[in-house]
Amino acid sequence: MKDCGQRYLVQRELTIDKLDFLHQKLQIQFELSNVYLNSVYLLLFFNSQKMIQLHDKSFAPFISAKEIDLAITKIVQQIKTDLGDEIPVFLGVLNGSFMFVSDFMKQFSGQCELSFVKLASYDGITSTEEVQHLIGLHHDLTNRTVIVLEDIVDTGTTLLSLKKSIEKESVKSFKVASLFFKPEAYKKEITIDYVGIRIPDKFIVGYGLDYNGLGRNLPAVYQLKE
Ligand code: 5GP
Ligand code: MG
Repeated sequence: MKDCGQRYLVQRELTIDKLDFLHQKLQIQFELSNVYLNSVYLLLFFNSQKMIQLHDKSFAPFISAKEIDLAITKIVQQIKTDLGDEIPVFLGVLNGSFMFVSDFMKQFSGQCELSFVKLASYDGITSTEEVQHLIGLHHDLTNRTVIVLEDIVDTGTTLLSLKKSIEKESVKSFKVASLFFKPEAYKKEITIDYVGIRIPDKFIVGYGLDYNGLGRNLPAVYQLKE
């Protein structure tokens, strides 16, 4: 009888220990799942904070201001090396390139001239074959080294149209620098001599680029969310 009683007590202690252990395990699991859920909520919260809405479309963060700055530094250094003592004419393509041109010029330390043309080919979020020359060339480019500064090259239609009008000017050389480039969408033969960042064939806004007039003032780049 005594044996039975002792065995009962030992078994009871073992069961209590087991229960304690299970209880602790459950508590740890509960705390871990709480930490997990909280981080998911935080992630969702921060992501929803960074999304932007322009007209009827949402855009997600894509390229940071820091990455853009580094890409411009890379282009500036490559151009500077290639130019040597040559004094170039930089040709900005409005409207989209205004921010790129401004930051580019601040980083470019050598002597240079600057001019702008204004072209338009985009309708909403699609590229059209028709390029409108809204402001033409008003700079004597005879025998000059011309470097086009584009915000983005997509199909290349705008660039081809610009190249055709510059070819009439008897320039010494013609080069192209584009901050963003969509290789999958590019259909033309013109060499893009300096590329900042290659991106997929998806519509972006910010850093000069707009969606139906909005978004140009954003310091970073956002991608269309579909
Ligand atoms: P492309 O003629 O090469 O198709 O397009 C060139 C012009 O279309 C660019 O200079 C830019 O103004 C506009 N564009 C091309 N891709 C995009 C884009 O993803 N977003 C925005 N906002 N504009 C673009
Ligand atoms: Mg442009």
